Amino acid sequence: MTTSLTIPVSLLPEDGRFGSGPSKIRPEQVAALEAGGRTLLGTSHRQPPVKHLVASIREGLAAFFSMPDDYEIALGNGGASAFWEVACASLINRRAAFGCYGSFSRKFAQSAENAPFLETPVIYESEPGTCRVPDLTDDVDAYCWAHDETSTGVEAPIRRVPGSAEQGALTLIDATSAAGALRVDVRETDAYYFSPQKAFGADGGLWVAVLSPAAVERAESVERSAKLPGARRWVPPFLSLTTALSNSRKDQTLNTPAVATLIMMENQVRWLNDNGGMAWATARCAKSASLLYDWAERSDYATPFVKDPTIRSHSVVTVDLDDSVNAAQVVALLRENGIVDTFAYRKLGRNQLRVGVFPSVEPSDVAALTQCVDYVVEHL
Ligand SMILES: *Cc1c(COP(=O)(O)O)cnc(C)c1O
Repeated sequence: MTTSLTIPVSLLPEDGRFGSGPSKIRPEQVAALEAGGRTLLGTSHRQPPVKHLVASIREGLAAFFSMPDDYEIALGNGGASAFWEVACASLINRRAAFGCYGSFSRKFAQSAENAPFLETPVIYESEPGTCRVPDLTDDVDAYCWAHDETSTGVEAPIRRVPGSAEQGALTLIDATSAAGALRVDVRETDAYYFSPQKAFGADGGLWVAVLSPAAVERAESVERSAKLPGARRWVPPFLSLTTALSNSRKDQTLNTPAVATLIMMENQVRWLNDNGGMAWATARCAKSASLLYDWAERSDYATPFVKDPTIRSHSVVTVDLDDSVNAAQVVALLRENGIVDTFAYRKLGRNQLRVGVFPSVEPSDVAALTQCVDYVVEHL
């Protein structure tokens, strides 16, 4: 078994970071950290320099998503995983329906299953590599699914379940590996939430949510009823969406955020908007993704894992390798050459490569990656 291999320098990408999150952070974002080394890092998040950063992120995202005037951006600590608990505490009234087609879409459903004050959720499930959006369901007040299922590389449609708005139900979309990379009309959602360590190329630790007026109203009424005598629901301040909103409106967070994450995210949002916003970012990711899918279609040892081309993700690309090629070995040899984090989602258990092609990744580097994989496989 080949345990060591040197890929010719002429084939290597300029930057070898292809993780699906954490993902590549551009050098300009790191330079922004250095530039803010004395004025931002190590200073209060309740004073103007850091509050201006948060304001710039909120305004920049509103522009990026062409957000309707009555929507707003909230943020808090804890990442998308924390937002699942925020949604259970503050957004789902009694019962939610979930589309589950991989680890991430399943995890939010599990949170709702475990919340003692919620009724057992209705789960619409399908096999990894496919997609299942929930159907219209009686007595449901929230519909939940993931725009991009990061564990499998499936991109789901984002359109309200027909009849759900008339029912007064909310649409809550996990956009963690989608926001910034995939096209969306946020008017089809009530909460479009994500963490910054994927397409926004920052560090983890924050959640950000684009919220509709209906979501804000829902949080207010759920939290009001939780204060009534005999209420079974407990909304800890850390999971209170109304508390997060009142802080966000002041360009702050409830508790101390990682200022470095804010600096890198602010830089990325400005970079995306300066280059042409959502249209530019989504076209760039689509191009990178098609380089990989086309290569896999042509290859005699690789195949796109997602069979239906209409749901193949443009931000996280999954490619199965033939049984004769050991993907773990390929991943290890790539890493030895500075090409990192191309492994499959562990619990999926497939002989697979998974590649994050977020906006920060150069399409030319994706093309180089395909050549490097070919080189490694030829020399196994
Ligand atoms: C990465 C990811 C998460 C988890 O994000 P954290 O910031 O680690 O909580 C949730 N959902 C999806 C779709 C993801 O890709």
